[in-house]
Amino acid sequence: MIKVVEIFRTVEGEGKWVGLPVAFIRLEGCNLRCEWCDTPYSYDGKSFREISVEALVDEIENFGLKRVCITGGEPFLTSQLPNLVESLLEKEYTVLIETNGTLWNENIGNMKTDNLHITCSPKPPSYFIHPQLLPYITELKFVVDKHIKLENILNEKTEKIIKNDFIVLQPESNKKEMVEKALKIQEELLKKGIESRIIPQCHKVLGLP
Ligand code: SF4
Repeated sequence: MIKVVEIFRTVEGEGKWVGLPVAFIRLEGCNLRCEWCDTPYSYDGKSFREISVEALVDEIENFGLKRVCITGGEPFLTSQLPNLVESLLEKEYTVLIETNGTLWNENIGNMKTDNLHITCSPKPPSYFIHPQLLPYITELKFVVDKHIKLENILNEKTEKIIKNDFIVLQPESNKKEMVEKALKIQEELLKKGIESRIIPQCHKVLGLP
């Protein structure tokens, strides 16, 4: 059984997949407590139901979409995550996993497919990324808040995986001062030859879940 907080259909509101229709699976539990977290109910220990992977995939099938985003909380806390991902890939879904980057599950690494994408959004204060997760990351997304500095984004760990069009800068709560900070960081990255995208939380702009 798997602990699920919510399943819903919407359009992707964050990162490079923004605007595309997507089914969201929010798994229960998080190992972090970010000060600006907008989903504290994902780890309050009471807002979930338990469901089998098979039944969960059946519910997703009802949406009639081809893309599924598994988020949290922190999805890598769920030991059955590889079973869920495998079941979705077998049904030919494109699967996106959104992680804070601190945890890893080797069984995910064994899945060789172009249909699995991992967005890592490292969190302050440490911005830690699990070393084994690093090579599997397909997008690095940073909330631009009062804490973040260029070296949290570009450092000896991330420079091994960063490519052009790989980093997303997301101004915290779409605040004007954070948009300005994001523009400065984007400029700094550009000076180092790295293009990045500034993308707000579009689902909030649109009033979607
Ligand atoms: S990692 Fe994500 S879900 Fe966990 S506390 Fe931080 S923002 Fe919230």
